Amino acid sequence: MSSASAAPQKYQLFIDGQFVDSESGKTFKTPNPATGDTLAEVAEADKADIDKAVGAARRAFEGKWSKLSARDRGRLLYKLSQLIEQHSADLAALETADNGKPIKESLYVDLPQVVENFEYFAGWATKIEGETIPVPGKMFNYTLREPIGVCGQIIPWNFPLLMAAWKLAPALAAGNTVVLKPAEQTPVGAMELAKLIQEAGFPEGVVNIVPGYGETAGAALASHPGIDKIAFTGSTEVGKLIAKSAADNLTKVSLELGGKAPNIVFADSDIEQAVAGAMMGIFYNQGQVCCAGSRLFVEESVKDEFLGKLSDKAGKIAVGDPMNKSTQMGPQVSEEQLNRIKGYVDIAREEGATVVAGGATPQLEGAFQKGYFFSPTIFAEVKNSMRVAQEEIFGPVVSVISFKDEDDLIKQANDTIYGLSAGIWTKDITRAHRFAKEIKAGVIWINTYNMFNAASPFGGYKQSGYGREMGRHALDLYTQVKSVWVDLSGRPIGWFGK
Ligand code: ADP
Repeated sequence: MSSASAAPQKYQLFIDGQFVDSESGKTFKTPNPATGDTLAEVAEADKADIDKAVGAARRAFEGKWSKLSARDRGRLLYKLSQLIEQHSADLAALETADNGKPIKESLYVDLPQVVENFEYFAGWATKIEGETIPVPGKMFNYTLREPIGVCGQIIPWNFPLLMAAWKLAPALAAGNTVVLKPAEQTPVGAMELAKLIQEAGFPEGVVNIVPGYGETAGAALASHPGIDKIAFTGSTEVGKLIAKSAADNLTKVSLELGGKAPNIVFADSDIEQAVAGAMMGIFYNQGQVCCAGSRLFVEESVKDEFLGKLSDKAGKIAVGDPMNKSTQMGPQVSEEQLNRIKGYVDIAREEGATVVAGGATPQLEGAFQKGYFFSPTIFAEVKNSMRVAQEEIFGPVVSVISFKDEDDLIKQANDTIYGLSAGIWTKDITRAHRFAKEIKAGVIWINTYNMFNAASPFGGYKQSGYGREMGRHALDLYTQVKSVWVDLSGRPIGWFGK
């Protein structure tokens, strides 16, 4: 296991069980977003490497992997989960160095959830079953639930290792083989994971990991005729490109895309709890969360009190060195993202919103002056129709919108192209459950936010995507159903036999 503080690490592609250079010999550098220094130099996959990886995954799918028992597949996944747990401290440090998230989050949230996902799906390997169907007559009908085949998986940079776990664990539990492309901004965790996959003893070619750019490696993978399924997590814009290129081969697709979640505070809520929930909703992981509560609806009668408390707390967030255990917010992942966020601050001002907290880069010392930091930011006086309330910013930036009554609120909350998640803060349980039913989103949090568990499904309505990851629902994405009919009568069938 490599250390986060050492000189730039070098990583190769992981194809057919081996670490290899890219066919072109090209590499790319990935910076540490806290300082801008190079963290690692990584082999850059392109079409030729994707071809090789897909070929290896196909051979593994038709060869050793399909001959392994479900129990052995589960044991390999469980072994992997244990190896990850053993290396958690190093993996968390590397994840923080690569992505910028505070070490407290990598170590105590991301890594435990990575372990949990592999553990959970390890258990599923032996429990994927078909059914018997009560068809009429002297017929026996049953179903076989089979793996789909070779799966391409493209993941984003906001939770690099966790997204790899969400994708790999169910796919492998169900007996598929995989070509995984990590995001170019954060390839390190996946390459470290490749070492553990090799150590766990997965047959060669079952998992192939091919870092590279989206427009080259990603596009080559999504459009490859040799894959049976493509799973993608990322922006809605790229999700549409993936769906289009998959359409040419009718490759099966699952998408987990953007969001603009309403997080709703009613006057009857516990205001302290709601303020903490609003902070968790938007500032966690520097706001780089697809289910972030970025539209904060606050009931008019408590708006001033709520906003005062929220701004006060936002101003006290410890922003700085993500390796420091007391840091609450690290840098954004890249300069590009930082500039995008700054652009939205200008847009907010032009649209007539007011910036009541943050809105600029914080003053930091030494090496961190070159990092991609941005202060926790609150826009007030926002209308739901404004761009800052409709477009996904993907940063620590929240738009506060006030509302008067529940009908108006539901209409506004649902007035978005997205539908990934929503939160509500109220002591009125009737209202809370009514809201849960009426909001068009895949995940609802009542008096809480950002809760996840490997057993609970996650995914979007509307343009937030299709398919559900985690829980038993994830197995639907990675299996297909075969219906088998057996005659029990022993007689010729129908009128042709007469
Ligand atoms: P973001 O805009 O947040 O960086 P993206 O949706 O661009 O998110 O990226 C998510 C993942 O999709 C990354 O692994 C990236 O390399 C990949 N990607 C980007 N563009 C394409 C594309 N045209 N085809 C396939 N994958 C892509």
